[in-house]
Amino acid sequence: MDEPIDGAFQKPADRAHALGSLQRIHVPMRRFKENEEVDYVIVGCGSAGGVLLQRLARAGFRVVALEAGPFWDTERDWVSDESGSHQLYWEDPRVTGGKNPLALGANNCGRGVGGGSVHWAAFTPRFHPSDFEIYTRDGVGADWPISYETLRPYYEQLELEMPVAGPAYYPWGHPHGYAYGPHPMGGVGNALIKGCSALNIPVSIGGPVAILSGSHGDRPHCIYRGFCIQGCKVGAKASTLVTHVPDALESGAEIRDYSMASRIELGVSGRVVGVHYFDSNGIGHFQKAKAVIVAGYSIETPRLLLNSACPGHEKGLANSSGTVGRYLMAQAGNVVLGRFDEPVRMYKAPPAHALTEEFYETNPKNDFARGFAIQTVGPLPIAFARQMAAAKKAWGWGLRREMMDYNQWATFGLLGEILPWADNRVTLAEETDRFGLPVAHVVFNLHDNDKKLIHAAKEKTMEVMFAAGATEVVQEARYAHLVGAARMGADPRSSVVDKFGRTHDIANLFVCDGSILPSQGSANPGLTIQALAARIADYLISQGSTIFTSERRDMTEPPLRRELAPPGTYGRGVPRRK
Ligand SMILES: Cc1cc2nc3c(=O)[nH]c(=O)nc-3n(C[C@H](O)[C@H](O)[C@H](O)COP(=O)(O)OP(=O)(O)OC[C@H]3O[C@@H](n4cnc5c(N)ncnc54)[C@H](O)[C@@H]3O)c2cc1C
Ligand code: SF4
Repeated sequence: MDEPIDGAFQKPADRAHALGSLQRIHVPMRRFKENEEVDYVIVGCGSAGGVLLQRLARAGFRVVALEAGPFWDTERDWVSDESGSHQLYWEDPRVTGGKNPLALGANNCGRGVGGGSVHWAAFTPRFHPSDFEIYTRDGVGADWPISYETLRPYYEQLELEMPVAGPAYYPWGHPHGYAYGPHPMGGVGNALIKGCSALNIPVSIGGPVAILSGSHGDRPHCIYRGFCIQGCKVGAKASTLVTHVPDALESGAEIRDYSMASRIELGVSGRVVGVHYFDSNGIGHFQKAKAVIVAGYSIETPRLLLNSACPGHEKGLANSSGTVGRYLMAQAGNVVLGRFDEPVRMYKAPPAHALTEEFYETNPKNDFARGFAIQTVGPLPIAFARQMAAAKKAWGWGLRREMMDYNQWATFGLLGEILPWADNRVTLAEETDRFGLPVAHVVFNLHDNDKKLIHAAKEKTMEVMFAAGATEVVQEARYAHLVGAARMGADPRSSVVDKFGRTHDIANLFVCDGSILPSQGSANPGLTIQALAARIADYLISQGSTIFTSERRDMTEPPLRRELAPPGTYGRGVPRRK
């Protein structure tokens, strides 16, 4: 069969750039000349970069995104297959160390248009109000320079733009509901419900998750086949590739793919003047710009700032505080696996579809601050084999034997808040990549509070798995979701950027991605990262061209610009394209 079965939908008119079984980009991309000074260069077109690009282009700015990876045509480039999906990840060399070294590569960063939102599982809980003031409330970490209430309109906005499916009433943090209905349960979700119910733990079912529970514009609904972290070839899972990039291009933005930013250039005026980058042939280029926004993820963002050291900024750009690269965070992401007598078939649903945040907040009865969440995880066979090898030390025939029972296993993931510590950091290694650029050296150590929290979270998650009826329970220690390393704060002596992502040191240099988070809660960070990007875009738009020339910092909160949302945001089942 040559064409997809389109059901009630109309067949796409032609074979333009495909972003799913139905969605197409038909417009030719605008191309700027390198010696043409654009308004903004955004480094990285991922979760934050994609939202920024769309907003700034729609507001009429001339904007180019430099993206190290490819601009995916999903029909041509993607497969619904675990082993065929490795090109989605940032697999370039990095050095990892410390007492608890982080696994890098597939476990964290994306590479290619859409970035990490292409391979995320799309769990989209909001951060809780307490996350914004953990120092004031609990005496740990750092407060944010903004409150939950500042970000709340952007949470609500992005939940419509993705859109997010979830329950009508979500009880944790600031209680709220979702405009789009929840998903049906898969086997692993049913196990979580059973385990939580037996222990009297409230559980949210069917979301919040940025996966379509009904058709939306030119994107079809989920078909529950479980290849979400392989990209979702169907186009039902939200990624900025399918939610924001099409409108960015229609609004006149350029995405230059296979373009690896190597250095941000500082001009004699003390303002940045553009970005050096390498194309796929290793040839160097320079794009002139009036302002630069770095959105390259918590490892590549500090790496680029450090690699941009120059006279007067010997420690790296925007690093007068010495905090570039510091306060890197990962969430504890232990996977707990339980074997059931009956088949669970955990692959038959999106991995993300049920969770509890009942243990999220600091509990005075605990001997640690902050908390954790428990979520569904549905590893496909290769990931499951890796987890069994780690959890049970199974190999050879023993591993084959475990794999025969794959259908009878369920997995839950805990998501635990690890605090921001100055010694968890990104620096430059002596090793270089294929462009000759020093690679990132990532050091990670667990501290006392982190160890106690992980222990308690692991015990509770195993208890829930047994309560669900598992006859055998094992676990694998791991980490997820890197954030921090260029944190925002009011004090230039202890942070890299202000509350609008503007570096304290350089008036026309911004950072906008997960690296600006001062703390991370135990909610998955993607929604917060995109909400922050929409807010920073609103700020830049409200400042107009003064950003390009003035040193003055207007700290007034910008108005929320709903009118800049991608078309179709407020419709349901309404075709986005005419
Ligand atoms: C398996 C997995 C599952 C996940 N599931 C969830 C989930 O369910 N919910 C959730 O909220 N989060 C989830 N996450 C985390 C989420 O994907 C990230 O937190 C988020 O994408 C980070 O956004 P970002 O904008 O900081 O960076 P990214 O989205 O990674 O974007 C950075 C982009 O910059 C590009 N880039 C980097 N350096 C350069 C350079 N020098 N030049 C040019 N381009 C560059 C990269 O190629 C990339 O495209 C998951 C992550 C993984 C690995
Ligand atoms: S389960 Fe749904 S969201 Fe996940 S890959 Fe399949 S269609 Fe996409």
